[in-house]
Amino acid sequence: MARHKNGVDKPRFIENGNTDASKVTVFWSMKKSLWVTSMYMGTAIGIIFYSSFTNLLVFLLTTAIVLCFDHSLGMHRRLIHNSFECPLWLEYILVYLGTLVGLGGPMTMIYTHDIRDWAQRKPHCHDYFAHRQSFFRDAWWQMYCDIQLKHSPILDVEDRVKKDKFYQFIERTTMLQQLPWAILFYVIGGWGLVLWGICARVAVCVTGHWLIGYFAHRKGHQDWHVDGAGVQGYNVKFAGLITFGESWHNNHHAFPGSAKIGLYQGQSDPGWWVLKTFERFKLVWNLRTPELLPSREELRQIGEIIGSDCSTTA
Ligand SMILES: [Zn+2]
Ligand SMILES: [Zn+2]
Repeated sequence: MARHKNGVDKPRFIENGNTDASKVTVFWSMKKSLWVTSMYMGTAIGIIFYSSFTNLLVFLLTTAIVLCFDHSLGMHRRLIHNSFECPLWLEYILVYLGTLVGLGGPMTMIYTHDIRDWAQRKPHCHDYFAHRQSFFRDAWWQMYCDIQLKHSPILDVEDRVKKDKFYQFIERTTMLQQLPWAILFYVIGGWGLVLWGICARVAVCVTGHWLIGYFAHRKGHQDWHVDGAGVQGYNVKFAGLITFGESWHNNHHAFPGSAKIGLYQGQSDPGWWVLKTFERFKLVWNLRTPELLPSREELRQIGEIIGSDCSTTA
């Protein structure tokens, strides 16, 4: 979502009356397939021939850093939703490292996130957007295929992102951005570190991203229902910590512009904890939380929320 000057979210996709979220062609993508398959193969070789405590540690650390600081905070909460403000240099660092997740550059991430968001808010959308197909078919579609809409809305990204030379550069060179790190890892620890620090990290990030998307749109715990939306979000309870708070997806569908995603008692949100720490050092400000967002007529609370305070100050 881009943001109006009055603070109200403005959808980036412009409708022309002809748009249709259900008429979609899913087709095999050679580029994505080569990318994901080579990462899986590299991971397998790394596990078989180069397993060591150091390599595992580098994998865990780099995965945690790119997923939390960069995918969750940089790409998702900042660039896509503008849910907090920060200096441009910090945004650049977070978004740059977010491209290292291996899912795409800033424009690609905005497109893939927002087109799904747009489609899920419609009463009916294609199974691809809803993760409605079987586990394996969905894995195939999401990780090895691309989509083409018959009647697509038009993407209108805000100038500050679209015209930014740095974002244009990392968008064009997304995959190549792994190369300097691969060279560094090779110099420090040889092929083992490259396979664990690059291939295993990308393989786990890409697969994990799809898995959470799959489970977060099928069934599970809900506190909120978005009336009129064909696809609802669900909380994936076991994944709060490992997704840095992103798995409280029912909250995210209810309050997409909130920087805090884990809203209720027991909903761990490490991404939010990091933001609150940054805030103390004046690195981020204007953190948006549900009570600061414009109310949504279509939003309905369901069930009883035990321990809910919806206050989002901690
Ligand atoms: Zn969703
Ligand atoms: Zn989102």
